[in-house]
Amino acid sequence: MQGQSLFQLISPLIFLVFSVGFTVLWHYARDVRALQFFALSYFLGACAFVGDFLRPLMSPVVEIYATSPFYISMALFFCGATFLFYRGRAPWKALWLTGAAMLALVSWYRFGKDDIVARTVVMHAGVFAMMVYTAFSLHRDMTRRIDRVLQAIIVMSAIQLVCRGAFIVFFEGPSLTQANYPNSVLALLVHFSVSIVALALAFSLFVIFSMEIVTRLTRTSETDPLTGVLNRRGFDSRIAALYEGPSVEGHCHAVVMADIDHFKSVNDRHGHDAGDAILSRFARILQGAARDSDFVVRWGGEEFMIVITNSDVAGGRLYAETVRAVFESQRHERLGGDSVTASFGIAEWRQGQKISEVGRLADLALYRAKREGRNRVCIHRSGVHEHGDEWAVA
Ligand code: GH3
Ligand code: MG
Ligand code: MG
Repeated sequence: MQGQSLFQLISPLIFLVFSVGFTVLWHYARDVRALQFFALSYFLGACAFVGDFLRPLMSPVVEIYATSPFYISMALFFCGATFLFYRGRAPWKALWLTGAAMLALVSWYRFGKDDIVARTVVMHAGVFAMMVYTAFSLHRDMTRRIDRVLQAIIVMSAIQLVCRGAFIVFFEGPSLTQANYPNSVLALLVHFSVSIVALALAFSLFVIFSMEIVTRLTRTSETDPLTGVLNRRGFDSRIAALYEGPSVEGHCHAVVMADIDHFKSVNDRHGHDAGDAILSRFARILQGAARDSDFVVRWGGEEFMIVITNSDVAGGRLYAETVRAVFESQRHERLGGDSVTASFGIAEWRQGQKISEVGRLADLALYRAKREGRNRVCIHRSGVHEHGDEWAVA
């Protein structure tokens, strides 16, 4: 080996470990495309460091193209991946143009005019521009505390690049040559600071992605796979949040129980798959008519519970009537053009009442709707008694 220190191999090793780490995370969250690009960025970083390590063994042409393009594309894919994660799209054209301009300038300062200091300045300035552009463009998208930490690390990395660039120009520039580069303070600084920066960035990214994966797993475990609405577990956590939330005196929510009419005969006549399609359609209408603060739960089979938050029974009734009318008006191809109806029962959930009790009252109203002939909305009113039950027809 010609003057290389094995210390230089620590950096590519760190980068490789991170690249594998991001690939493993991607395995668990395939649709987070940014993970692929972070893995690629760290892999390219490892390649750049290996290129740097082997630099003395290469001819001038190979040497420059075995390192600079890797460093440039490492920064390019890192910034692109950050954009993809926070925005869903990345300004690839601008990033590639910056990268191409950097490579052209580096080539010029190698073969047109041999100046290692100018080359270093170009590399530092280019990466600085990409990182600052990324951090500031995504300012509005990086809102959580951990996002802010990542943003701060990106900005600090960029500032550190400027300081390093200035140090090279003012202190080491005059004595720096191609031959003494591997043992120079510059080489040491590049490897040390890039590894520290990569460590800090990767650490915050791993925290962010782990949080993302946990959120997704929770969401999946709380969602009914057929209809996409909440299952009972999702219901429990939403209800817990509602109990914990600020309770204002006199506040109430409307609880709606909805059940598809004669659903067994839909299955019997058209098959289970057609039944599934009707169920999903009904759930979509229920979800579509609800606000973000409301929640729709598949209570069991073809029965759903919907909590219309901060609303009295009148609001619940408006919701249920809308869903009932839309569902009734739909003609289903899979049922040979037939339509299907649903019945609804509503009860008011007042402060201090248990949700299980309110659900039971809404259920009583639903049974009343079934008895009355289906395809209708009934409301439970406390204090009104009929046939021994606490309900009344709207
Ligand atoms: P009613 O109007 O009184 O509600 O009559 P119904 O036939 O809808 O009620 P019943 O409780 O007798 O039947 C419910 C049916 O729903 C029976 C069951 O096979 C069907 N079902 C429950 N879950 C699913 C499901 O996930 N997919 C399909 N296709 N059918 C389901
Ligand atoms: Mg039914
Ligand atoms: Mg039922």
